[in-house]
Amino acid sequence: MTPHSVPQFLTELLAARSPSGYETEAQAVFDRHVKPAADVYAKDALGNRIATLNTKGDPVLMLAGHLDELGLIITYVNNDGFLYFDTIGGHDRIVISGRRVIIQTEHGPIFGVTGKRAVHLMDESDRKKVPERHEMWIDIGVRSKKEALARVSIGDVATYDHELQLLNGSVATARAFDNKVGAYIAGETLIRLAKAKRKPAAKVVAVGTAQEEIGVRGATTATYAVDPHIAVAIDVGHATDHPDCDNRKFGETKLGAGPIICRGANINPHIYRQLVAAAKRAKVPYQLEADPRPTGTDARAIQMARGGVATGLISVPLRYMHTPSEVVDLEDVERCVRLLVEFALALNPGDYAHW
Ligand SMILES: [Zn+2]
Repeated sequence: MTPHSVPQFLTELLAARSPSGYETEAQAVFDRHVKPAADVYAKDALGNRIATLNTKGDPVLMLAGHLDELGLIITYVNNDGFLYFDTIGGHDRIVISGRRVIIQTEHGPIFGVTGKRAVHLMDESDRKKVPERHEMWIDIGVRSKKEALARVSIGDVATYDHELQLLNGSVATARAFDNKVGAYIAGETLIRLAKAKRKPAAKVVAVGTAQEEIGVRGATTATYAVDPHIAVAIDVGHATDHPDCDNRKFGETKLGAGPIICRGANINPHIYRQLVAAAKRAKVPYQLEADPRPTGTDARAIQMARGGVATGLISVPLRYMHTPSEVVDLEDVERCVRLLVEFALALNPGDYAHW
């Protein structure tokens, strides 16, 4: 079997280390690939990247995918040079230890490992426990606080050293598919629209948002600035097709079965219907999820911006969210781009999804 090809833009986003608030590397990749296709390209104080195509178009459509990812932030160095950390984003503490990590420092990246007490040295009750955050540390191979602080600073951040790897065909694993795939889809949709023979009536604004994982903060300011009529957030969604997901609790969504289109109070019903219609026209398989609350995505902030925005949400099905080894089917990523290109092209002037 020939290896599945991975788009260069996505490969570079996945290699970029970008914990919330420290998105510089991912911003640079977005700049490199999306800026040349945009009519206007802006940056803001939060770290958002805002690419606009067809500046006089109507309605204003915003596509948002977040550039940030989970990470660890150094909070304390002990006398022996071990680094203590706090978590950036929603970590499962059971998977933090025993990892190789890369710390971004002023002097460039340095390598470390996350340590904790060995299983042999635990008593029976310790073995059943999930380690507390302060019971783990990063070991960078130094012998003293002084030596450690010559290399790293309080406030430096670390990510897992887990890079993109194809598993089988188009199924791949990486850290931070959440949400490099969403940022890729937002940017790539704009790039394809810029190249398309047919021009959209809409003004299309692709935003690589900052700080989603710690409270949809970039989307909050970006939506204010862009002031869209219509927006679609692109994120990852739980594929519930592995051995430990009860469909009665978590619904039924599968890897490789196409974009997940969300319904619920966070979603404007017209936008939902137009996303489904676009999927059908583009011959893209899709699946549905229902969420009765504000979703845990940028869609939450976007919908509530200013006087309210007609918001939709599509998600790439993903297994093992927020672990160092997230799994997606890259075909689903490409299908999201095709769906959104079709959706954007179908918007007409005055189409504001008021209801
Ligand atoms: Zn996330």
